[in-house]
Amino acid sequence: MKSTPASPALLGYDEAAALVAERATRLAKFRRPVESVALADALGRVLARPLAADLDQPPFSRSTRDGYACRAAEASAHTPLSIAGTTRAGLAPSGPLPLHAAWEIMTGAPVPSGADAVIMLEHVEATAGRVRLLPPRTVERGENIVAQGAQAHAGDRLLPAGTRIHSAQIALAASCGCESLPVFARPRVAILATGDELVSVASVPAPGQIRNSNAPMLAAMVAEAGGEPIVLPTAADTPSALDVALAQAADADLLLITGGVSAGKFDLVEPALLRAGARFHFTGIRIQPGKPLVFGELPRTRTGSHTPTIPIFGLPGNPVSSAVTFLLFAAPVLAALTGSLESAPRFALARMAPHASRHGKPGLTRFLPAHCNFSAPPGQLPEVAFVPWHGSGDLAALARSNCFLVIPEDAHNLEPGAIVRILLP
Ligand code: AMP
Ligand code: MG
Repeated sequence: MKSTPASPALLGYDEAAALVAERATRLAKFRRPVESVALADALGRVLARPLAADLDQPPFSRSTRDGYACRAAEASAHTPLSIAGTTRAGLAPSGPLPLHAAWEIMTGAPVPSGADAVIMLEHVEATAGRVRLLPPRTVERGENIVAQGAQAHAGDRLLPAGTRIHSAQIALAASCGCESLPVFARPRVAILATGDELVSVASVPAPGQIRNSNAPMLAAMVAEAGGEPIVLPTAADTPSALDVALAQAADADLLLITGGVSAGKFDLVEPALLRAGARFHFTGIRIQPGKPLVFGELPRTRTGSHTPTIPIFGLPGNPVSSAVTFLLFAAPVLAALTGSLESAPRFALARMAPHASRHGKPGLTRFLPAHCNFSAPPGQLPEVAFVPWHGSGDLAALARSNCFLVIPEDAHNLEPGAIVRILLP
């Protein structure tokens, strides 16, 4: 089943990743539909138009401290300034500041015109309506003031289209008065689990059966990555069941299939994809877990989607293999389809924990479930250790991990203290 005439030798991880990135870049170029969503529903979506400031930010020169607004050149320890007024946050700009005077001001309040600095409350002595700088304090022009428009001027572009919306972007949009935001429509990701042994979550498996955990896992991964998961009915390991199932994915923007891509007698996914007209980019790669991964594209038989083909991944059925191959290869394609400028997959550096060591498998890049302690002391890399596991079916190990430790093809042995790459979920 694994014989695709065009690919006699399997690609290594880097080559496969480059190929997927190239296809993702091409898919990202097609114009995707735009919709408007309420700000409260925008989390995880992708901005379809730049976000512009409606007003200067800040809209008035603002004090960043509780204290006294003054002219820096007039502030001294010897000549007290008389207090000419008080402004708290929420009041309109007051002033102007008379000569040789200070103005009591609260954090967030508008600075009176004429003032060019705010002295912190803690740095003055205030008595009988007058205030003097406490030695050895000095005050510089501009201190503790954010000038009107310092962050942005009205009309300035604050965020480009393609920005993924997290909490900070929601706050910024709120500050600009956006009750709704234009976002790209979420790509529809069809998820098809295959296997005669699969039963639903609600069933008690009979001998030889297992519950379908890949579909809910992938639905969650797709939703987290900004896609709209569409879980198709589970397909049996027969050619006709697979043909029917593939036809149901005709409207999808991306198709994820799990199971049925190994070299076994009932691994029928590749032939079914070929019958549906698929072109394969690869049908296996030199990684573990995940070696049987299939990547290709199906011709689009129905109009209504923005891409001319449907990218497809045939993920190996073992849950850890499915998770790893999704993160490494499906996530970048999905990111491109969402219109996001964020790149996937995400890697970081870490240090192997004491006592942790592992032999590599020559010729295979490995991605093994691991746990990284991200609260590293300053100046040190976070420490990562393998999660004990019993192979790529070990879902409990996957659920106890928070990253995957990358063992390069050519690494014979990873020693404690070695600097390693980790793949982040
Ligand atoms: P396959 O890739 O079809 O050869 O399946 C490899 C292993 O993954 C087998 O032990 C399957 O039972 C298991 N498996 C396949 N699909 C799923 C699924 N949807 N959920 C959980 N385990 C699965
Ligand atoms: Mg199977």
